[in-house]
Amino acid sequence: MTAAASKPRKGKAEGQWALGYREPLNKNEQSKKDDHPLNVRARIEDIYAHRGFDSIDPADLRGRFRWMGLYTQRAEGFPGTDTGHVEEELLDAPHFMMRVRVDGGALSTEQLRVIGEISQTFARDTADVTDRENIQLHWVRVEDVPEIWRRLEGVGLSTTEACGDCPRVVLGSPVAGISADEVIDGTPAIDEIVERFIGDKSLANLPRKFKTAISGQQDVAHEVNDVSFVGVVHPEHGPGFDLHVGGGLSTNPKLAVRLGAWVPLDEVADVWHGVTKVFRDYGYRRLRTRARLKFLVADWGPERFREVLEDEYLGRKLIDGPAPDDVAGTIDHVGVHDQVDGNHYVGVAPPAGRTSGSTLVGVAKAAEEAGSNRVRLTPYQKIVVLDVPSDRLEGLTTALDHLGLPARPTPWRRATMACTGLEFCKLAFVDTKNRAGELVEELDRRLADVQDALEHPVSIHLNGCPNSCARIQVADIGLKGQIVTGPDGAPAAGFQVHLGGGLGLDAGFGRKLRGHKVLSAELGDYVERVVRAYAEHHEPGERFAQ
Ligand code: SF4
Repeated sequence: MTAAASKPRKGKAEGQWALGYREPLNKNEQSKKDDHPLNVRARIEDIYAHRGFDSIDPADLRGRFRWMGLYTQRAEGFPGTDTGHVEEELLDAPHFMMRVRVDGGALSTEQLRVIGEISQTFARDTADVTDRENIQLHWVRVEDVPEIWRRLEGVGLSTTEACGDCPRVVLGSPVAGISADEVIDGTPAIDEIVERFIGDKSLANLPRKFKTAISGQQDVAHEVNDVSFVGVVHPEHGPGFDLHVGGGLSTNPKLAVRLGAWVPLDEVADVWHGVTKVFRDYGYRRLRTRARLKFLVADWGPERFREVLEDEYLGRKLIDGPAPDDVAGTIDHVGVHDQVDGNHYVGVAPPAGRTSGSTLVGVAKAAEEAGSNRVRLTPYQKIVVLDVPSDRLEGLTTALDHLGLPARPTPWRRATMACTGLEFCKLAFVDTKNRAGELVEELDRRLADVQDALEHPVSIHLNGCPNSCARIQVADIGLKGQIVTGPDGAPAAGFQVHLGGGLGLDAGFGRKLRGHKVLSAELGDYVERVVRAYAEHHEPGERFAQ
């Protein structure tokens, strides 16, 4: 251990394993110590699936199930409260949200069809594309989980570590390997990380969730991940990755910081392993609210973090490297685009990521009829069909249109995202998914006359609570759900507004307009006013965040 890393910055123990603090300091740490979270799979298969929901040990139900991608969903009709505090067991429905991890966002049409059919059979035809390239199903019963896993694993998919204090799905470019704009294809590194480390028990008890992004271009919101590898060309060594650590949103949002290190493709998995172990060993385990890697990085700074990573975990120095140029605007891959091999890819926008099992089956069929067997999910809740020959493009876009997935969506449909919200999430104060869908329809009507005047779509992100699953702080218009006082003095669903956040060239958090709360029912009026003011007053080329 280096002298720099040998003592905690603060006098009070943060529960850092590397400093000798191994006793659990909160109930989550205790639960992980009582039994390794990945052991829950055997109990689901051998006990709970046979005996049913009521047989589930509460410590598994509200804790370890997450490591297998399972959360209890919110009991139907349970309203949001002004504090959000409700005894958790009151909120538990006897059904689960199941998160299918889709590393790199990469699916074959066969895999997509299997997920869609699982949804039709076991999840009441629900399917949401998340902004972490996962697919979430709802209404899953514990009795059906082993059969769902059997079908998923039969096509190389999994729910392992899709949730929990462990390495979550690895974000990757939806157009890796086919885009003229990427510096390097990160797919081999993503595959290696998944192959070597997902399900590795030594990495499955981290202080908190751990998010990774790897891309040869800036299309994966790398600034808000715990660790990210961003494509860059080194003047001597050629294409590789710039290493960033410590990004994350929720409360206390932080943008990731560069370590100034260039990593070649074949070393990404080892460096990722090193960063993950730094987090495991030095991450704060006393308070859940300070347990993400961003707090350690903020306290240490990038120099010390890099020194510990190199000296204690890699046993060598990393190569210094340049920063990638920031890009302007969001790269969401919506629309029809050229691939480097002469084919095309087609990106479509389900409303705020909401789709269905039937639609996914339909997309798989449409893609195959167009000669493709590769589909991608994006960190903007979009679906992309790859490898479409020119003479099949029209047939594909027509088929996708019939599925309600236009390749040329309105800017509002294209740039609106929403988290799960009150419909299924136990932490939510307000509805988000359905509200976002209605808002898009409203804005399509209200703002049809100004949409052509906007060079970039105005991004609108809705969260149901402060946890920021929909990245509200980095949206043009970020909306944080909360209960507000309605005109009649009664509690009503509303949103706290954040304006002017962004990523890339505009990386920064939106201004929180203190005291500025908008009723959910009045969201259309509010967004229309803001967008009209921007459309009227912005200079040519000036982006919303500027
Ligand atoms: Fe649930 Fe809050 Fe995340 Fe929305 S932001 S999905 S309400 S935890």
